[in-house]
Amino acid sequence: MAKRISKKAKKYVKQNYKSIATFLAVVILILALTILITYLIKPQIIINLFNAVEREYYNYVKNYYYDSEDDDPSGINGETVSPIPEGELAEITGADLSIHFLELGNKYTGDCTLIKVGENTEVLIDAGSRKSSATTITSYVQQYCTDGVLEYVIATHAHQDHIAGFVGNNSGNSKTGVLYQFKVQTLIQFSLHNTNSVIYNEYVSAVEYLKTQGTTVYDAKECWYEQNGAKKSYVLDEAGNISLNLLYNYYYENQTDDENDYSVCTLLTQKIGGVENNYLFTGDLEKKGEEYLVKNNNLPECVLYKGGHHGSKTSSTDGLLSRIKPKYVAVCCCAGATEYTDNNQNTFPTQAFIDRVSKYTDKIYVTTLCTDYDKGEYQSMNGNIVFYYGKKESEDEASLKLWCSNNTTILKDTDWFKNNRTWGG
Ligand SMILES: [Zn+2]
Repeated sequence: MAKRISKKAKKYVKQNYKSIATFLAVVILILALTILITYLIKPQIIINLFNAVEREYYNYVKNYYYDSEDDDPSGINGETVSPIPEGELAEITGADLSIHFLELGNKYTGDCTLIKVGENTEVLIDAGSRKSSATTITSYVQQYCTDGVLEYVIATHAHQDHIAGFVGNNSGNSKTGVLYQFKVQTLIQFSLHNTNSVIYNEYVSAVEYLKTQGTTVYDAKECWYEQNGAKKSYVLDEAGNISLNLLYNYYYENQTDDENDYSVCTLLTQKIGGVENNYLFTGDLEKKGEEYLVKNNNLPECVLYKGGHHGSKTSSTDGLLSRIKPKYVAVCCCAGATEYTDNNQNTFPTQAFIDRVSKYTDKIYVTTLCTDYDKGEYQSMNGNIVFYYGKKESEDEASLKLWCSNNTTILKDTDWFKNNRTWGG
């Protein structure tokens, strides 16, 4: 019976192949026209579609070649990462690449990361934590940015502890804000925000001021889709070995109640001596955002990771960590400050964060220590944390080094840790 039907079908196709071919051609033509017309009216829809296909393809390839066994961190337990050589302050100015996690001059938690490449290329990611931090940040950055020009500034999201230092205070006729103190070539900012806070509006005014000074301003979504001249990858050195790459965050173009999930996420990539070193910065991205980040980007293993959301319990999830397997982790926070919670386990850096990161490394560094929040007392923990590659004759000789303004003691060996946290829980 089945044989007879297939015979009949074959005969039908043979007799009517011309009309079938015409039908198929018409369908394809209609499809192509629909895509073309949609592209002309709403290009975003088609770009999204193509990007989704591209991402699915990457994920497919990735899953095909790397099965899940490398997601299992058991047995590593964080202590196989060898200590990082200690550097010298004098070497940093001339380093080929340096990444600085800055102290902010107060008891508050906030982010500010300076990346310097070669002689005179700087990227500044965020400028927390309060307006008063602006002077601390400016005088630090001026030591490395000697021409007064920041090539790239990134504002990850609209929270005070990331943008307040951009705004700064009024000082006579001038403004102390980082955006007023330096010339900025390109500013890349969050695409979406919920807040309408005073500091957010002051930040918007600062960005308007930058535009009058010739700064090019893009948002993360424009960069990802490479619209209006924006790019998703910026080469930072003349040899083309170091690049700043924007990662795709679902919340660049989708609303959420969680401001943190709007964070602009970047991966710094450095090709050196035949290998690739990656450094990851995710702002205050939370669990949901990290899930999408892992799903939508082909994330590599990372030498260095800025502990997500100041070491919060709701970031640096197993899903993200199992992909990036960080060797070194820098946390920008005022350890133990009761700014957001009185529950000791959940003050930054949280016990939950330490439990998860400890599967990969014990090389965790923290900028600042809060000694008495109510009295506003704080001191340096590691202080300003600087990872750098010194200038070397040959690439093979180069190695990553660490210099901190206070000391290079890893978190689990500090007194604060011994009194407030446990290891390997
Ligand atoms: Zn934050």
